[in-house]
Amino acid sequence: MSSRSGVKIDVPSTWIKHPGQSYCTQCFSGCCTLPVEVSAFDLIRMGVLTEDEAASSLKKAFRRLHKEGIVRSYHPQVGLFILEQRAGTECRYLDPKTRGCTIYEKRPEVCRRFPKIGPRPGHCPYQKRAS
Ligand code: SF4
Repeated sequence: MSSRSGVKIDVPSTWIKHPGQSYCTQCFSGCCTLPVEVSAFDLIRMGVLTEDEAASSLKKAFRRLHKEGIVRSYHPQVGLFILEQRAGTECRYLDPKTRGCTIYEKRPEVCRRFPKIGPRPGHCPYQKRAS
């Protein structure tokens, strides 16, 4: 997806220097269309995985979470999952109308740390949301 500003979400070299947290509320939330890597700890904090399940078998937990449409893949080598996306385009926890996170207080670590960490640290695909 591209914009009049020339920002393309899938091309980090076109991203702008992160304008500051206050701009996030006016943004289209393009960062929430990127693949989101989550750990078992994130899933527990999100309330979709129990500590017992995590300690027992993450592969088994993945099968349930995948069936329920919460995660789309699991990478056992690194113990990380990728969250499912709505229609393959944006995070399932992004409100399509308000463009806000519906689990903000419980959001994954990678979302908390973006854009300090991410494809282009310190930069983001800011695009003003249509009002
Ligand atoms: S969990 Fe929330 S902050 Fe993270 S990508 Fe999804 S909607 Fe965005």
